[in-house]
Amino acid sequence: MPSARSTTVRDLRRSNRSRTLWALYLHGPLTYQEVATATGVSLATVSNVIGDLLRTGAVVEVGSEGSNGGRPRGLFHIRSDFGYVLGVDVGETAVMVELFDLGMRALASHRSLTRHSRLDPDEVVEQVIEGIEAVVAESDVDESDVLGVGVGVPGLVERRPADVGAHDVAGATEAVVYDQSIGWGTVPIERMLRDRTALPLVVDNGANTLGQAERWFGAAKDRGNAIIVLLGAGVGASIVSTPDGDTGAFAAELGHTKVVAGGRECVCGAKGCLEAYAGADAIVSRYDHLKRRTRAADPREVEERTLAILAAADSDHVATQVVDELVEYLGVGLGNLVNLFTPERIVIGGWLGHALDDSVLPRIRAAVGENALARPFERLDLVRAQLGTDAVALGAATLPVAEFLHSGGVRARSAAATHPQAAEPLA
Ligand SMILES: [Zn+2]
Repeated sequence: MPSARSTTVRDLRRSNRSRTLWALYLHGPLTYQEVATATGVSLATVSNVIGDLLRTGAVVEVGSEGSNGGRPRGLFHIRSDFGYVLGVDVGETAVMVELFDLGMRALASHRSLTRHSRLDPDEVVEQVIEGIEAVVAESDVDESDVLGVGVGVPGLVERRPADVGAHDVAGATEAVVYDQSIGWGTVPIERMLRDRTALPLVVDNGANTLGQAERWFGAAKDRGNAIIVLLGAGVGASIVSTPDGDTGAFAAELGHTKVVAGGRECVCGAKGCLEAYAGADAIVSRYDHLKRRTRAADPREVEERTLAILAAADSDHVATQVVDELVEYLGVGLGNLVNLFTPERIVIGGWLGHALDDSVLPRIRAAVGENALARPFERLDLVRAQLGTDAVALGAATLPVAEFLHSGGVRARSAAATHPQAAEPLA
């Protein structure tokens, strides 16, 4: 057993390394002085920590900054090829797997359509494993250089004690997924994947991974209070309520908050949910209803049909009405969020969000204004997401990056990922 004192010293070193890495990752390249200012760690300690990280290769000197005639000061950054991360987007009709370097440059991607009209856990696991193997092979990255795999899934993600198994470590937990809308009762997705790959895994809700990507690199960067809304077949949200870039966001099942008492039936079984009015499925079935079509839409055609309806909003009066209703109900749903959380910014993302015409966003903001209290609405801006429709996979890939930064630059292996104390430190 290590003594309490050596544990404390080690924890402090880890904490200093972690704070330094976070500062460099989110704001680098930085000088020693800038890291010290950003982290509140003393200049002498920062210089030692960066010295360590330079030796391990996690950090690299990328140039220097002139210092008013004095000695030029070195600029340091995370070395982008120090390790690689994978991001997985388990979408409504397809599974996307992408491989990134630590600079979040996409090096390979693989997309496979689901065969079933509803997501099937076993099929999803097959697709994820196939995608991981494909992108690792395509990118020529050594699997031992992969820091981890982040997986963005629909529904509620909870952690529970891990089942005893080959990888089990006392106190370990694993992610399970509940999604009433797609009939996922208690799917032990992490264990199912862990049985098939030795790579470290981190699972989170897809809207939350999109939110993390937008917080780190996109429209919610440096915003302490923001809500990132994922509009697709379903409706999700990630709510950021602290000023820290790395923590403090949670996923909200916005799609299943009620906008009409006793309203339309929702896929979750309840009535009047926002998703039954503002999701892509709802847009297509509303359009068909108004056109007096009765054929049920194939889920795999929903995206294409939704895009066609949005594109026809100028010329087809039924499409116009559908978009008007979409704006109105989003106004109610998002207005409730504004009253609850007083965000300074709402970011609209997801493939449906990206497909909305530029003229629609100000109309959504105005509709929010009709439903929110004046004071919280005053300071609200509403913008489109910046990172494109692949941002769920990108965001999922930030999950293992966050683990790496939190651990102070530890390259976790396999089940040790969730137990940094069991992994080999770099220095
Ligand atoms: Zn619902």
